[in-house]
Amino acid sequence: DTIGADLDRVVAAFPDREALVDVPSGRRWTYAEFDAAVDELARGLLGSGVAQGDRVGIWAVNCPEWVLTQYATARIGAILVTVDPAYRAHELEYVLGQSGTSVLIASLAHRTSDYRAMAEEVRGRCPALRAVHHIGHPSWDELLSRAALVTDDQIATRAAGLSCDDPINIQYTSGTTGFPKGATLSHHNILNNGYFVGETVGYTERDRVCLPVPFYHCFGMVMGNLGATSHGACVVIPAPSFDPEATLRAVQDERCTSLYGVPTMFIAELNLAGFASYDLGSLRTGIMAGSPCPVEVMKRVVREMNMAEVSICYGMTETSPVSTQTRRDDDLERRTGTVGRALPHIEVKVVDPATGVTLPRGEPGELCTRGYSVMLGYWNEPERTAEVVDAGGWMHTGDLAVIGEDGYARIVGRIKDMIIRGGENVYPREIEEFLYGHPKVADVQVVGVPDPKYGEEILACVIPRDPAAAPSLEEIVSYCRERLAHYKIPRRVEVVDAFPMTVSGKVRKIELRERFAARPP
Ligand code: ATP
Ligand code: MG
Repeated sequence: DTIGADLDRVVAAFPDREALVDVPSGRRWTYAEFDAAVDELARGLLGSGVAQGDRVGIWAVNCPEWVLTQYATARIGAILVTVDPAYRAHELEYVLGQSGTSVLIASLAHRTSDYRAMAEEVRGRCPALRAVHHIGHPSWDELLSRAALVTDDQIATRAAGLSCDDPINIQYTSGTTGFPKGATLSHHNILNNGYFVGETVGYTERDRVCLPVPFYHCFGMVMGNLGATSHGACVVIPAPSFDPEATLRAVQDERCTSLYGVPTMFIAELNLAGFASYDLGSLRTGIMAGSPCPVEVMKRVVREMNMAEVSICYGMTETSPVSTQTRRDDDLERRTGTVGRALPHIEVKVVDPATGVTLPRGEPGELCTRGYSVMLGYWNEPERTAEVVDAGGWMHTGDLAVIGEDGYARIVGRIKDMIIRGGENVYPREIEEFLYGHPKVADVQVVGVPDPKYGEEILACVIPRDPAAAPSLEEIVSYCRERLAHYKIPRRVEVVDAFPMTVSGKVRKIELRERFAARPP
């Protein structure tokens, strides 16, 4: 189905159930009201000349209008270009120019920044960009006022001309390993993926899903919004951008049954002073994903946040995103120690990254995946698409994984993050996982930095539990010595307050590497 047709189905089934709640503003929509608001915006866009296949950008922090824009563009077959709200003018210009965006919807309302000036500056340099509408500004009302120009016939004709294989979304990847690429996805790609992710955690119209993850990223817009709405569940927006306190309060006050987050978000919530004072009794499930999910953190989420059924998903923007997921009835070991097994209708295999030959179960190699979830391609970059999707339709993920006899996968690292120290392959993930057990370590990232003798040397960046009592290099080394091979022991420790992050909550390892490579001990 198309996203619009799927929404029609849910609206008809659950018109009076809540669809969307915006906690900061107190606004709420039932499915019938949500449908009407989406329809108004869809007509507004159609009335301002947005044709099928035109690119409409959204550059905004989480807000209800973001969600309305997602469904309104899908309804009229416009391609939604989701733009990272942290982007500055030159990055904004790159994605709007690369995608040929003609209409931009913008709001970074919670910031006092110069975003409106940035949007205007970029407009002058992107010839295709003909209109910018700022949410909460007269230019937004002007967009909605155009709805009156559109007849029922026009909107119905447009809907009838859409196909579920049409491109509907360009999502630029997080850019944790380089310049972002515009993964182009169809209705079929993302609606199916959201549906199956929601089905795997057992969503019904009684679920209320708290989403502190950014909508511009597939975690929020596919696993969150589409995952919830395709089952008639309710989307709850706790805050415009991640705030641990607002998140826990929203779970408590809105009686949420599900909570999403990247690992660092859950870590921040668990470590919040006053954590124990929130009533999280309504929670049943949730999703942790996006980067390696430490076993210790997963266990605390299960025990201390009442999320017995919490699920890990593994995926990437290019695959809609989810390929593997843990199941509701998995035991604690699978639930916390693996990224689950393939979703229905998706295949996974592990290949030798050098030769492309499929490896037997249990051997580490590059994870490849195939199925409805694989993107249409990178927008206007067929060469880059061909580098990652092979002739057989397999997406080569760049992630290193082991798949067990039972089909459950473990991600051991990224090819690009792998450290080669004196000829030995070292996976940062393994060392990070180990260092999480150190009593003085709150969070840790391990990277390779250039070394004249070994090629690369292992550096641990540590956020200490107590800033006044950071672990020393000697303490880290002696902690590792008994239980890690000598070549895996960090030779440098750097204490930091925070890691450089993307808005989607991923650590920019590249930046850590560059920062410390440029500053030898
Ligand atoms: P870019 O491709 O631009 O460098 P990115 O790969 O970080 O950015 P995303 O598509 O948002 O952009 O992230 C996908 C990646 O996130 C995966 O390839 C994988 O490395 C990592 N990832 C996602 N989920 C998990 C998980 N559950 N465990 C470990 N790693 C994960
Ligand atoms: Mg990637």
